[in-house]
Amino acid sequence: MTTKNPAEECPDAIVIGAGPAGCVAGAYLAKAGLSTLILERERFPRFAIGESLLPYGNDILRDLGVWPEMERRGFVKKFGADFCTGQSERFNRYWFRQALGERYAHTYQVDRASFDSLLLDAARRHGCWTREGVSVSGIREIGRSGVEVDCATLDGGRTFRAKWVVDAGGRRGVAGMSLGIPKIPTRKRRMVALYGHFRNVQRNSGEAAGHTVIVRIKEGWFWLIPLADGVTSVGAVIPPEGLRAAGGDPEAAFGSCVEANVELRTRMDGAVKTMPLRATTDYSWRFRAFASGRVLMAGDAAGFVDPIFSSGVMLAMKSGKLAAEEIVAADESGRVLSPAACRRYTRRVASWMKLYGRVIQAFYERSGFEIFMHPMPVFQIPRSIGYLVGGMMDLSFADHVRIAAFRLVCNLQRILRIAPRIPSVRQVERF
Ligand SMILES: Cc1cc2nc3c(=O)[nH]c(=O)nc-3n(C[C@H](O)[C@H](O)[C@H](O)COP(=O)(O)OP(=O)(O)OC[C@H]3O[C@@H](n4cnc5c(N)ncnc54)[C@H](O)[C@@H]3O)c2cc1C
Repeated sequence: MTTKNPAEECPDAIVIGAGPAGCVAGAYLAKAGLSTLILERERFPRFAIGESLLPYGNDILRDLGVWPEMERRGFVKKFGADFCTGQSERFNRYWFRQALGERYAHTYQVDRASFDSLLLDAARRHGCWTREGVSVSGIREIGRSGVEVDCATLDGGRTFRAKWVVDAGGRRGVAGMSLGIPKIPTRKRRMVALYGHFRNVQRNSGEAAGHTVIVRIKEGWFWLIPLADGVTSVGAVIPPEGLRAAGGDPEAAFGSCVEANVELRTRMDGAVKTMPLRATTDYSWRFRAFASGRVLMAGDAAGFVDPIFSSGVMLAMKSGKLAAEEIVAADESGRVLSPAACRRYTRRVASWMKLYGRVIQAFYERSGFEIFMHPMPVFQIPRSIGYLVGGMMDLSFADHVRIAAFRLVCNLQRILRIAPRIPSVRQVERF
């Protein structure tokens, strides 16, 4: 596997997108000696949402040499996460150290423009070639020999060729769409996220100052993520009807949710917006398969998981690493990915998504949320949930059983009152 001259523009591997999935996939491919070209639509640094990391992603950051720079950058240290209700009648705090030990006691809250640039620099250091401002419009497998990648924005239209492609281009799912792979909705309900950056948002004290705070409101939820320089990322996730009721005005919809909830009103009293609010639809889906002979999908390009547990960046990095490992193994054997390898990759990544899906469900159900906010120390269920809050996904059989038991208790809560009712919380979605 010799590193070719990029002027040949026929690298071993092309990675679409330089987000966390793409940079990690690219770095591991290049580390293994494959000539790798990353094509990125934007010019970095660029804004992205998804600022709260999970400690189980730290290992990849350490392995790629990004961690020491993160420690120097002044990102806010995150030791855990808080979950509460809009009317402040329930509060539940998770410390990573308690569930995961000292090695995973903290991670960081990052502004993604800086964090993604650090990852892209690391991919370059490991040997990736990169082109920014290049948007991939589609891909084609050419028999069993390679893949063509079309870029509409380059020189009025241009095609690259590679042996392997990783689609890490985010939620548009360009590879899955090009290959005609069906999409599976994993949640029925589409939500809208309205978000921005603010100053003067009240923070927790002590080590909890860097915690992500998730506030469950009647019709959805808010996140508050403390960032560096006194900035806080605040976002509301509400059903589209909430936005329509405010005449389609994101500022009005966001403002009325803050006003209606004492927890948010108190924390946001005197807060000043530092950027216009942005809006994005947030729904959960995945492709039926994440791999074919010479193409793998990683991160959001494979599927999107609701962001309540801040799992997106870690899932992106872990799937990016796994995609690179599958390609390196197949490249060494001189063959395309076997159907078994494609299934194995899809099953593994989908199992991570499903695991989060099962706990996320609890958040949107009234009964499930009541149980989540009233963790009973039976069968060590809260410990297994704590693993997921910290991002540990390769759970033991016993932990899987505990998560299943948690789901069972959530269902029982519908008919038996196991945990106290929370009158201020509504069922957002029935599963
Ligand atoms: C409202 C909201 C809040 C969230 N909060 C969190 C959070 O707190 N923590 C967390 O971990 N996750 C969060 N997420 C999820 C997180 O943003 C994503 O899961 C994560 O960014 C996925 O990384 P990725 O590398 O797969 O894709 P992305 O980060 O989307 O990166 C894809 C890259 O590909 C580029 N690209 C796109 N199309 C093309 C193309 N055609 N050609 C070339 N390049 C292309 C893009 O410019 C981008 O740089 C949130 C998501 C949403 C919607």
